[in-house]
Amino acid sequence: MKDSILVINCGSSSLKFAILANAGQETLMEGIADQLGSNNSTITFKYQGKKLQKTLALGSHESAVKEIKAWLDLHPAINDLLVGVGHRIVHGGETFKQSALINQDVINGIQECASLAPLHSPAHLKGINISLTLFPTLPQAAVFDTSFHQSLSEEQFLYPIPMDFYREHHFRKYGFHGTSYRYISQRLAQIWKGSEQQGVLVAHLGNGASTCAINKGKSSDTSMGITPLEGLMMGTRSGSLDPSLLTFIMKAKNLSADEALDVLNKKSGLLGVSELSNDCRTLEEAMESGDERAKLALDMFAIRAAKNLASVATTLESIDHLVFTGGIGENSSYLRQVICNHLKALNIGINSTLNKDAPRGETLNISSNESNTKVWIIPTNEELMIALDTISLIQH
Ligand code: AMP
Repeated sequence: MKDSILVINCGSSSLKFAILANAGQETLMEGIADQLGSNNSTITFKYQGKKLQKTLALGSHESAVKEIKAWLDLHPAINDLLVGVGHRIVHGGETFKQSALINQDVINGIQECASLAPLHSPAHLKGINISLTLFPTLPQAAVFDTSFHQSLSEEQFLYPIPMDFYREHHFRKYGFHGTSYRYISQRLAQIWKGSEQQGVLVAHLGNGASTCAINKGKSSDTSMGITPLEGLMMGTRSGSLDPSLLTFIMKAKNLSADEALDVLNKKSGLLGVSELSNDCRTLEEAMESGDERAKLALDMFAIRAAKNLASVATTLESIDHLVFTGGIGENSSYLRQVICNHLKALNIGINSTLNKDAPRGETLNISSNESNTKVWIIPTNEELMIALDTISLIQH
């Protein structure tokens, strides 16, 4: 069936891509262009179990999309199946409450949100513009990380600062990872009928990490804020802390506000505390060989995740499900265990053996018999959501 979608995810210095077929169920080809903006850019295609890597002479988002187009020209059987392009967009502000077919108004809207995501929005716009030029006959859709959280109530999304900042500058909590949370909510409804009428907590734990409370299928609170810095401790991000610390850091090291924010965004979190790595796998290996700082960093990560889950749970009537997802949530049995140990007071418990032996990449219920809440591992699939949204927008 002709229903393949090219999914494009432009980060500030990378571009991930995939071609999904059969209503998003099959990945025909996927890849990544890395280190864009440097002299060492490469693009890697994974196709039929083989990897093809090329250097990207110009190292730009545009040159990466041109390489994808060139690859498609060499594979006409796949090219002919394409019916649309779906773009992941980090920030949709208050303008985009759902995914949208791209036209000039949508491009203008993404541009207007650029001040809220200065690293990502310019990259997204480059990706959109070049793919409109290279795929002029294909409809293209924008899928926003923020849309799912547009259901938050005012009490949840406003910051307790003078209201002018919201009225004039749209400073408020937006939340991110929304495409992942929407996928998890729908996937859970497939495996647990009725969960769309229940209270669900989700911990999306990866290099970026956040939590979300989903009340009857709608996001009711989430940990990230106006930017993805708020909330949990992450790979290199500090997460929430006393805002005064920013000025202390500036004065202590004679830094500008942007430089101090860089410390909180790029040098903190697991990396800052462990002084070893932002990578959970590396830290778990170090902990197993006795590195106490690696253990401290992981345990700080866990306690903050647990505290935040308890916090967003205040928007639910009951905590019927807790879902772990993202690279860490899906794979780190250590962190799942420690997080759940901190949630005992909420009657959330897991079966340690099921947790430890969980097979990679599979959906699994790991609750203990006594747990009031069902605890799940569910692999996320943002690309699938983007492909399905694109198909649905094309059909309507
Ligand atoms: P993501 O950003 O969702 O791709 O997640 C990346 C994070 O997942 C990194 O910190 C990885 O170390 C972590 N991760 C991936 N696989 C494992 C694993 N088997 N055990 C522990 N952490 C893992």
